[in-house]
Formats: sequence, structure tokens, C-alpha cells
Amino acid sequence: MADATAVTVEDLVAWVHRFSEVIAEHADELTQLDSPIGDADHGTNMRRGCRAAVEALEATGPEDVTGFGRAIAMKLISAVGGTSGPLYGSFFLAFGTAGGATHTLDDAGTVAALRAAVDAVAARGKAEPGDKTMLDALIPAVEAMEASLEAGGSLRDAMAAGTTAAEEGMHATTPMIARKGRASYLGERSIGHQDPGATSSWLLVRSAAETLAA
Ligand code: ADP
Ligand code: MG
Repeated sequence: MADATAVTVEDLVAWVHRFSEVIAEHADELTQLDSPIGDADHGTNMRRGCRAAVEALEATGPEDVTGFGRAIAMKLISAVGGTSGPLYGSFFLAFGTAGGATHTLDDAGTVAALRAAVDAVAARGKAEPGDKTMLDALIPAVEAMEASLEAGGSLRDAMAAGTTAAEEGMHATTPMIARKGRASYLGERSIGHQDPGATSSWLLVRSAAETLAA
């Protein structure tokens, strides 16, 4: 990072590289979580999508935040089968649009872009908190980041608070009844299983903390 208050496009690219690494490390676990309440492909889907996103960034060499978001979004939408690809694609597309045609984001701009990204996932998937989806990790995370910045925290503080909130949100999906996606077909039988998408979303937030505010 060039200085303590700026997130550069290079930092954003490093975020996606890190996310891709941790997804590869956790792919089997994500697929196992998707087995009792889904179709056992979340780890495979995410690994394929992340690899494609990294390749797209290497091929494109984006110079601004909008270009960063676009390059990944197109790949995630086309390369990840299932529901999660288009949702993560929407996340990065909205992140880039909100961030704008700039090379760096300040702390508030970074969290505002994350807020726009999370709102885009909610709009696209029409899910709400408590539906047992990736939003149950993402919404608490961005709320915690906003609260931390508002209280005068640094981006590092905000990212740490966001990571903790995402992890708690992920664990909180276990007793929930799924109301969206494949898991919703199971109704009450979805109770007692941690949501795979909330788990990959926690990894996304944790990767951001490791690369954008390290
Ligand atoms: P699929 O369910 O099509 O096999 P994945 O297994 O890759 O796709 O992803 C499953 C995850 O997608 C779920 O664990 C859940 O977190 C997330 N998901 C499903 N539907 C929605 C939705 N409408 N909004 C937000 N997240 C969703
Ligand atoms: Mg699945």
C-alpha cells in the first residue's frame, strides 16, 4: 500500500489474488457445506470463478476502480456456474461503479464501494438478512465497517470489525431456515447447517482486511 489512507487498484488486485488463494485452500470445505443443503458444488464454482477473475485481471491490467470491477464481474458471471457467480459478479461490478474512474480510494470511499457492492447482491438475489445466504455475512460486515469509520476508526480498524462481524454472521446462519436458493427447497431441514455462501463471503471480507488495510 502506497500510504496508510489510500487503497490503490494494485491493492484491489491483491485482494482478488488473496481471495482466490483462500478459496482454493477452503474449496473442499465449501463444497462439503454445500452438500447437505445444496448440490455440493460451491467450492468448485468459487475456485473456477476466482481463477478466471485472476486471469482476467492479468489480461486486462485495469487502471481504475471501475475497470477492476468490470474485468472481474464479467468473468465471475460467465465462469461460475450456479447462483453464486452472478451474485459475486454483481458485487464487483457495483464496487467498481461506486468506486469510479479513479486509481485510489480513501477510507470512506472504500467502505462506500463495499456498501454499494453488498446492496447490489441484495438487489440481484432479492434476499434479506436472515434468509441464510451470503448476505448474512456481508451485511453485518459492511455495517460494522461503517460504524467503525463513523466512530473515528482507521480503515484497518473498520476491516477488522468487518471481518469479525462477517464471521459471526456466518456462524449465525447455522440455526436459520433457508429462504433463498437451493437450500430453501429443504425448508426446516436446512436448519443446523452453516451456509456455504456466507462462508465464502466471510473469506472475501477477511481477504479484504488482509490486503486493503494490512
Ligand atoms: P448453487 O446454489 O446454484 O449451486 P452455489 O452452490 O455456488 O450455487 O452457491 C450457493 C450459495 O449461494 C448459498 O449458500 C447462498 O449463500 C447463496 N445464495 C443463493 N441464493 C441467493 C440469493 N437469492 N441471494 C443471496 N445469496 C444467495
Ligand atoms: Mg451449489
